Amino acid sequence: MYFIDTHAHIDMLKKLSPEEAVAKAADEDVKYIINVGAELDGSRKSVEFAQRFPGVFASVGIHPHYVKGFGNKEIRILESLIQGESTGYGHSESVKNENGEDENQGVKGGRYKKVVAIGETGFDFYRNLSPASDMEKAFISHIELALKYDIPVIIHDRDAHRQTMNVIKRYTGNKKFRAVVHCFSGDINFARQCLEQGLYISFTGVITFPNAGDLKKVVEEVPLERIFIETDSPFLAPQAKRGSENYPGFVKYIAEKIAEIKGCSIDEVADITSKNAESFFSLK
Ligand SMILES: [Zn+2]
Ligand SMILES: [Zn+2]
Repeated sequence: MYFIDTHAHIDMLKKLSPEEAVAKAADEDVKYIINVGAELDGSRKSVEFAQRFPGVFASVGIHPHYVKGFGNKEIRILESLIQGESTGYGHSESVKNENGEDENQGVKGGRYKKVVAIGETGFDFYRNLSPASDMEKAFISHIELALKYDIPVIIHDRDAHRQTMNVIKRYTGNKKFRAVVHCFSGDINFARQCLEQGLYISFTGVITFPNAGDLKKVVEEVPLERIFIETDSPFLAPQAKRGSENYPGFVKYIAEKIAEIKGCSIDEVADITSKNAESFFSLK
């Protein structure tokens, strides 16, 4: 039995170094961790971690909180990160070739195989730290990059279910479009819409909170075959670890809660959600 933490930010941990977090998580049967970029710096670290740790994979993207003014420069940097150039963006603006063209304009080459997703991207109308138009523009650009490199999208949706679905529906006709709604916070109707559109649903420690009422119904109804588990660490420590810094080793508490709600074994939850993630993100 092993777990996959499909969404962590080990670059943001304060109490553990990345080395310690990865080693401790391995002791807790976490086989793989996907480190998700929330900003360009976090995306760069995600790629670095993927290069440094065999069990860590990277997702690169810019969280809706940080997309104010998002444009071509950011797209170019993300693209160089997809290609595994974790240090390549420092000179992305100023390097010109002899024709006066920006050398990083058209980054050539294929995907670094340990960059397995784009994101997190989407809408956050809870904190509204960026204009909605920039969130949408960035979301669409992230999806276009995912389609270009044939990798899935990790969607962040907070208080924006309708707007998220509107964008998703423009792409679900495309066979290359694959996406997961991470830290799922919608109701059962939104969950059904997501399933209908072919999306996966990922649960965090929020399902272990005493006030998780409606979310438990979602866990109950969504088939295990469409579920991933994630810590979203360092945020959202599960109830059993409230007050401590969350890290990927705590992903078992989410599996345990899903097993309890669905009336199955934790082994079954671990096996099926791990298989789902391995195939969806092509982890190997
Ligand atoms: Zn998020
Ligand atoms: Zn996150």
